Amino acid sequence: PKTASTLTVSSDDLDERDMAESDYNDAQSVKAKMFSRAALTHKLKKMKSKMAKCKQCDNFIVVSGVECEECGLAFHRKCMEVCQLECEQKKGTVFGVDLSVLLRDRLEEVPFVVQLCTSEIESRALSVQGVYRVSGSKPRIQKICQTFEVQKEQVDLSDLSPHDITSILKHFFKELPEPLLTFDLYNDFITVGKAIQHLSERETSPEPSDIMNIIQKLREQLQRLPSYCYKTLQHLVSHLQKVSENFDNKMSPSNLGIVFGPTLLRPLVSTDMSMIALLETSYQAVLVEFLITHHDKIFGLDQSTMTPPAPTAPLPDTPPRASIPLDRADGDLDRDASSKERPRSLESWL
Ligand SMILES: [Zn+2]
Ligand SMILES: [Zn+2]
Repeated sequence: PKTASTLTVSSDDLDERDMAESDYNDAQSVKAKMFSRAALTHKLKKMKSKMAKCKQCDNFIVVSGVECEECGLAFHRKCMEVCQLECEQKKGTVFGVDLSVLLRDRLEEVPFVVQLCTSEIESRALSVQGVYRVSGSKPRIQKICQTFEVQKEQVDLSDLSPHDITSILKHFFKELPEPLLTFDLYNDFITVGKAIQHLSERETSPEPSDIMNIIQKLREQLQRLPSYCYKTLQHLVSHLQKVSENFDNKMSPSNLGIVFGPTLLRPLVSTDMSMIALLETSYQAVLVEFLITHHDKIFGLDQSTMTPPAPTAPLPDTPPRASIPLDRADGDLDRDASSKERPRSLESWL
């Protein structure tokens, strides 16, 4: 049954409300902002009916239980609001660390791992066939991930196969306690993915105005992301667009969407209903495909579609662009070419 909380858009906008109509079950309408920080470190799924005690309050769970796929701890859903227990499986300093923590007190706007992997791919592997689709060697990937954890300055990607590097990047995003597109906005992004899918299933090709409506909607939604998520997403999608523009690698925006959809979007509590899960995977993929295809308009590089940010956009708490990140003050700033493409006029509100 649908609950009031599935309507997450403002009630004074009928178009938005129409788009938000969907059949999500209770599990997916749980709001992440009510969960404690520690609760978000777990990878939660709906608990199968079995007797277990809640790790937070020590009472038996009768209904509305969730359990962590990684560490196996079980909780009442209600207890996640006050949960103090962090996931035992997430003890690193780079992988599996929340972006807000990883980038706290740092001058970087995009995580170091992401900058390093994307620039290495762009420097030598854009034409490699199946880049991002093919997996790398697990032992080599584990070794490099370890080096990132202990001595990231020592990481050298130059000897690695491109498939190792892309696997490290995908691993980084998959391990984030909260996915890059956040739990709170998950349903909103899925709703847009659904609209894109419906547009592509029509017999006639979509009107430019239909495309523009979706672009506008996405721009508004992306402004609601924390600024570090927005900037990291902008960096990643700009990179993926460069990958898709190289036809030798046979990785179209659609192929990249299939790879990155479930990597960037994940519901707070994953559902057991395979039919819904399957549908949502395809909405995730078409959404990422759309972000890549319309990257310039969505991320504001095209001046004609510029609008001021929503008043709810997070205030920028990062230093001006001109400052040089401490970790990278060794003269290799030209690697970060993508960040230079942003027009000056955007800097005041990004
Ligand atoms: Zn409890
Ligand atoms: Zn856990």
